[in-house]
Amino acid sequence: MKRSFIREILEHTNNNTISFAGGLPNAKLFPIEQLKKSAQVVLDDTSSLQYGNSTGYEKLKEKIAKLYSDDGFFTTSSNILITSGSQQALDIISRFNSNKNITIETLSYLGAMNVFNLNNMDINTINLQDDGCDIKQFKQSISKTKLAYIIPDFQNPTGISYSDKKREQIASIIKDTNSLVIEDSPYSEIYFEKKFESISQKIPKNSYHLGSFSKVLAPSLRIGWIRADEKLLEPLIAYKEAMDLHTNGLSQFILNNYLEDINEFENHKNKIRKIYSKKMQIFCNFLDEVLPQFEYIKPKGGMFVYGRLEGINTKELVNKCLKDDVLFVPGVEFYINNIKEDEIRFNFTNSTPAQIFKGLNIIKSLIKE
Ligand code: PMP
Repeated sequence: MKRSFIREILEHTNNNTISFAGGLPNAKLFPIEQLKKSAQVVLDDTSSLQYGNSTGYEKLKEKIAKLYSDDGFFTTSSNILITSGSQQALDIISRFNSNKNITIETLSYLGAMNVFNLNNMDINTINLQDDGCDIKQFKQSISKTKLAYIIPDFQNPTGISYSDKKREQIASIIKDTNSLVIEDSPYSEIYFEKKFESISQKIPKNSYHLGSFSKVLAPSLRIGWIRADEKLLEPLIAYKEAMDLHTNGLSQFILNNYLEDINEFENHKNKIRKIYSKKMQIFCNFLDEVLPQFEYIKPKGGMFVYGRLEGINTKELVNKCLKDDVLFVPGVEFYINNIKEDEIRFNFTNSTPAQIFKGLNIIKSLIKE
């Protein structure tokens, strides 16, 4: 079992580091003033410091449910289990399914693959194409595993999104094979063109839809959730209780108060979309100028640009870059098999244009060495 390379290299960062590595939201965009006000208000009420319900603070669950219903996906608070980030949602579902088989995309999110391994799940990988996973492989695999984990919106690490057609196909295969899908969507609200309709909406009885406030608000709140049919949620509650009784109550109260002003949250999301979209464009322009040999697909949302530097061992490259205080994640970290050594994931949300230009030029000079 290896530790997350990303978390390890983040320990080597200092104030001078130009990091294209982590999936960190831009700290300048945290709505500090509003959260301060919310914290002040909720701390006047002792219940914000008391034990709470295992499935989460009812008012917050209602607000999350309403966000779904407003999007046309009918949801009530009884469909929501609040978790300590969507990372815990993955762990809860995996513990419940330990020793079973699971279909995942290759490449996939490292934190999920670690959870599946730690829970002794037998992982079956299927290829990811530019518009989503290989449907033929998906059908073959899910017929055996009966459970799949996918990230259809602006995937981590590749930035790829599933086309509308593939979403339809996945939903009908899941239904026909009487299987279940874990749809992990922490980036779905960070769209630059349009919001995609979730696959779960087409198959509400066969899906766990995972959401999070980490990317759109603040990751330290550690608030995520599982949206599922009540019958699917019910057996998960004992696992949640065994892990931590309930998600941090103070965070839930602060978030609930913040969400009372829904216009404020909508404006905040719009601001993030606009700024991240601009940052992505700047990053891609500099990539084209400084590293024109880097082949990539421009993302339609999210936080990452993924691509290939043909013939370059990017793990060796990042070890050189580390000495010059520049970081990125080599693609090998996201594979279970089919290891490709010349790929890179860049995060574009957290650096200034000057840092992007400087960081890419340092990478360029170290490639030449
Ligand atoms: N899923 C994916 C695809 C992610 O990229 C991340 C965070 N990097 C998570 C889940 C976990 O996020 P959190 O626990 O902060 O909600």
